[in-house]
Amino acid sequence: MVKAVAIITISDTCFKDNSMDSSGNFLLDFAKKKFPEANIHTVIIPDEKVIIERELIYFCGSNMDLILTTGGTGLSSRDVTPEATKAVIHKEVPAISVALTLESLKKTPMAMLSRAVAGIRDKTLIINFPGSLKAVTECVAVVKPVLSHAISILKDEISEVKEVHASMQENQVNPQRHVHNAVQNEVVVQQPLTNSTHDHVCPHLQMNSSVDVSAVALRPRESPYPMLEMADAFKIIDTIMEQWVGSVETINIEDGLGRVVAQPLHAKEPMPPFPASVKDGYACISSDGAGVRKVRTAVTAGDNPQAPLVPGECARVNTGAALPVGADCVVQVEDTKLVSASPDNKIELEVEILVAPQPQQDLRPVGFDIPLGSCLVEKGDVLDAAQIGILAGAGFQQVTVRVNPKIGLLSTGNELQEPYEETLRPAHIRDSNRTMLKMLLREHGYDSIDCGLARDEPAVLMAAIAAALRRCDVLVCTGGVSMGEKDLLKPVLINDFGATLHFGRLRMKPGKPSTFATCEFEGKTKYIFALPGNPVSAYVCCLVLVVRALRRCARRAAAFARVGVRLARDVTLDPRPEYARAILRFASSGDLPTAILLGNQCSSRLLSACGASVLLELPGASPAQRALAAGTSVSALLTGRIDSINN
Ligand code: AMP
Ligand code: MG
Repeated sequence: MVKAVAIITISDTCFKDNSMDSSGNFLLDFAKKKFPEANIHTVIIPDEKVIIERELIYFCGSNMDLILTTGGTGLSSRDVTPEATKAVIHKEVPAISVALTLESLKKTPMAMLSRAVAGIRDKTLIINFPGSLKAVTECVAVVKPVLSHAISILKDEISEVKEVHASMQENQVNPQRHVHNAVQNEVVVQQPLTNSTHDHVCPHLQMNSSVDVSAVALRPRESPYPMLEMADAFKIIDTIMEQWVGSVETINIEDGLGRVVAQPLHAKEPMPPFPASVKDGYACISSDGAGVRKVRTAVTAGDNPQAPLVPGECARVNTGAALPVGADCVVQVEDTKLVSASPDNKIELEVEILVAPQPQQDLRPVGFDIPLGSCLVEKGDVLDAAQIGILAGAGFQQVTVRVNPKIGLLSTGNELQEPYEETLRPAHIRDSNRTMLKMLLREHGYDSIDCGLARDEPAVLMAAIAAALRRCDVLVCTGGVSMGEKDLLKPVLINDFGATLHFGRLRMKPGKPSTFATCEFEGKTKYIFALPGNPVSAYVCCLVLVVRALRRCARRAAAFARVGVRLARDVTLDPRPEYARAILRFASSGDLPTAILLGNQCSSRLLSACGASVLLELPGASPAQRALAAGTSVSALLTGRIDSINN
C-alpha cells in the first residue's frame, strides 16, 4: 500500500517564484486521487544537482514509497535531474523510461529530447517526468497502471503482489475481461498475457505450496519432533556446517576486521628496520663505562645518522631514533648530567654518564618486534585491530580471507509490519527481529541480507523462502515454528523444499522449537535456521546456534569461550536448561566474577538482553535441585562485550 509520496518540482523559475507550476499541480492532483490514504509532500527546488540529490536522499530516507519529479530532464545546460537521480538510485528501472519515451514519441518527436530516468533507492521508487504539462499528463497515464504493484514489490507486500498476479493469471484463462484489481482498487481492462509475459516481474509468486492448512482441527497437538539435547544439536550443526565449501577473497586490510585469514603473511622487512632507541637519552659505547662524553650530534626519530660514533663520544637520541653505527646502548636522560654547553645554550658540548651502561641497554635491535620472515598472520586467525595494524606497519595493504556464507534474514508472521511504518495497524507489532539479528550478526563479524517479511500463508512463505534462498547460503527465519495453526515454517520447508529437518525441537530455554534444516535449491545446498519469533528466543538461538554454524564454516572454534561465574542471587531453575542473560561484576580478590541477571527473563522481553555480556548456562531443574543459591558457581558463555560496571 502506498503510504507516502513526494512530488518534487525542479525548476529555477518555480523556485524563484516559490510556486509550483501546472505540471507539479497535475502530479499533486494525480497522487491525491490515486493514493487517497497517502501522505503527500511537495517541494520546489532549483536545477542544482547537489540540491536535487540531497532532496531525493532526504525523501528516500523519510520512507517515501514514491518520488515523482517534474522538470530538468532536457538538454539545456541547467537540466541535471537525470544525473542527480542516477547518482542516488541503487538500481535503474529502464523499462519505465523506455515506456514513457515510446508513448511520448507517438505524440511528438520532441520526446527524443527528454532524458528522464526511473529507478529505486532502498524501497523508494523515483520517476523523472519532463517539465511540460502535456508531457507529464501523457507520461503519468503510462506509468499509472504499474505504480502500486511496483511499490508493493519494493515493500515486500507479498500478499498484495500475489493478488495482482492471481488476477493476471485468472485473466490469462479468460483473456480480455474486466478484472477488479484489488491493489489499485479499480476496474481495469487487462490484455491477454502470453506465456512469456506471464513469467514477468516475480516468477516466484506463481508458486503453489503443497501444505494444506484447511483442516486446522486435525493439526497435531504435540510436536512430532524429538526433543534434542543441546550437545546433540551442536554435534549436528558442527558436522553439517563443516561441509560448507568456502572460497577465499583478497581484500583491503581495513575491510578485514573480524575476517578469517586464508593465507598466512610473513614479514618482508624486520621491525624495527634499524637499531632503535627505546628512551630519550644518549646513544653510547658501553665499554666507555661511566664518565664525561663529548656530545657529538643529535639524532631525532626519522634522522639517518651517517658518521659512526667513536670512543668517548655520545649522540643525543629520541625514542624511536636510529642509533649511529658504533653505539651499542642508550643511557636515559635521567641518568646523565650536563657538563658544558655553548654560550647560547643551543648546543650541548659534554655530558656526564652517571651510571655505567650495559651493552644493548634500552635499544631495540633490528627485528626486535618483528623478525624478518616471521609470521604476521596465520591461516585461521580472526583479524583484529592489532593484527591489522601490524599488517599496515609491515607494508601489507591487502590480505586474503575466507569468504563468509551469505546470510539472509526473513521474518514471518501475520501480525508483523515494517518497523519504519508510521502508524501501527490494529493487532500488529513492528518487526524487531530482523533489525536485532542484523546487528547481532554484525557484532560477531557477519553481514546479512534483508529478505523481508512474509505472512503466515504457505504459498507466501514458500515464495519468500525461495526468493531468500536465491540470495543467500544460510537463511535465518524467525517466527512460525511453534505449535499454532499459523506455524507453517516446518511443513513448508519439508513439503515445498524437500528439506531435511536435522532438528525441530531442542531442550533449551528460550528457543525450544528451534529448527535446523538443509535443502538443495537450484543446485546448491542451503542451510536454514528457523528460530522462534519471540525476540529473546531469536537472540539467544542466533548466538548459540547460528553464530556457531557460521564460525564452523570458517573452521574456527565454534563455541563461545566459557567462564566460571557466581550467581549474585538465588535462581529458580526451569525444567529445561536455560540460557540466562547476565552482566558480570569482577571481584578484586581474584574470586570468580559475579553474574547479575538482567531483569525479567521472559522470552518476549528483549530488555533482558540489553548490555548482556554472557549467557549463563543454567542447568535444568531436577527433583533434587530446583533452584541455585546465590554464590553458586555456574558456567557462562562470553557472548557479549565485557564493560566495567559500578560496584
Ligand atoms: P511465533 O514464533 O511466530 O509463534 O511468535 C512468537 C512471538 O514472537 C509472538 O508474540 C510474535 O508476535 C513475536 N514475534 C514473531 N516475530 C517477531 C518479530 N520479527 N519481531 C518481533 N516479535 C516477533
Ligand atoms: Mg507467528
